[in-house]
Amino acid sequence: MKKVNIKAAYLAVGDELLIGQTLNTNAAYLGRWLNRIGVDLIESRTVMDREYEMVEAMKQMLNKVDWLFVTGGLGPTKDDITKKAIAKTFQRPLVYDPNLVRHVEEFLLRIGKIPTLKDTSDLFLIPQGSKVFYNDQGTAPAILVEKEDKLLLAFPGVPREFHHLLGDKVGHELKKRYTFCPPLQTTILTVGLGEPMVERAIESIRSKLPQEVALAFLPHYGMVKIRLTIPPKKASDDHQRLESAVSAIEDVLRPHVFGRDEDTLSRSVGHLLMDSGGFLGTAESCTGGFLAHKITSVPGSSAYFKGSIVSYANEVKQNVLGVPSSLLQKWGAVSEPVARKMAEGAINSLGVQLAISTTGVAGPGGGTLEKPIGTVWVAVSNGTRTHAQKFVFPYDRLGNIEATSIQALDMARRFLSE
Ligand code: AMP
Ligand code: MG
Repeated sequence: MKKVNIKAAYLAVGDELLIGQTLNTNAAYLGRWLNRIGVDLIESRTVMDREYEMVEAMKQMLNKVDWLFVTGGLGPTKDDITKKAIAKTFQRPLVYDPNLVRHVEEFLLRIGKIPTLKDTSDLFLIPQGSKVFYNDQGTAPAILVEKEDKLLLAFPGVPREFHHLLGDKVGHELKKRYTFCPPLQTTILTVGLGEPMVERAIESIRSKLPQEVALAFLPHYGMVKIRLTIPPKKASDDHQRLESAVSAIEDVLRPHVFGRDEDTLSRSVGHLLMDSGGFLGTAESCTGGFLAHKITSVPGSSAYFKGSIVSYANEVKQNVLGVPSSLLQKWGAVSEPVARKMAEGAINSLGVQLAISTTGVAGPGGGTLEKPIGTVWVAVSNGTRTHAQKFVFPYDRLGNIEATSIQALDMARRFLSE
């Protein structure tokens, strides 16, 4: 087993990444993956589909790190020249891999396609001496090239294929060769407090937290994630110390904490509904069904979610939810009385025990002096008790919709916790 303090770098290849046509999600995925196993990713770079840039970047980056991850440009088309660049960087010829030809044929037959690629296709070329990891979700394999203690690991750019090859294939090979020492890490998820407020609350108990616990604050539309990290190695009671720091922070932020790590607000609301045994429904104006989408993104949500009425037009608010036209005329659609009536109406129309309603000005048009863009009313009702709250969000249309859905779920969470 080799050393554990490995430094890694990432090179993304593709014109489409540079011009902003494709978002570099592979970078985030790799960053998370390496962080989990305790490998430091010290640099991430993007270059165009041009050999000169790729070779320069590979040489420079390999000088600095133990592992260089590369994604993109491994396919069979003319613009896929990553393997050529690798061959040049390592000064090795490209050679045909007959096993790869067979594997690709099998893959194509398995997905019902007739293999038409010629054996001489560039797809089957690999830098001499590299290890090939066959792709079960596509044609281009991952390639591991080694020189002295350095590794270059190249993957196809398609995110799904990259995830598969990294997680199921290359990852296993690396774990066989190295012993990793991941950091201890937990993320506390909060909602309803701004970043400065979260920071201030934690500052008040900072002296109680172990010195080596590093904190990071990550805001996202009204939620703040607090990441706690203890660096690898250290003492055997690190786990306990991390856990006591997490508890101390959760105590000081209690009503705003809705979960940890991969938890979501929708899941937290789902658990509460399962406990209470009631069904939820939504009446959505400005969120247009997005709230229902968030709720139904949780597997098993049919156990507690009945449905949504997307009551975008006033007629639907009146005819389906029973909001009186007098209320709409007097207060307007974006108002507390209308939000309340929408939630109460949904209880009856959907036959549920809890309903959430949203009505607001998502923008970019439709704002007034009295109700500027981002003004939103959300109500939660169980038929006998209704709670309504106003928000004014500063985001663009999709941001306002996202923020409304987050606050609406949080209101339901609190309503169910009372
Ligand atoms: P390639 O492997 O370069 O042929 O890319 C195949 C597909 O994957 C293209 O649709 C790319 O836009 C996409 N892709 C390539 N690199 C990335 C990346 N770093 N993140 C997300 N998608 C990517
Ligand atoms: Mg490409």
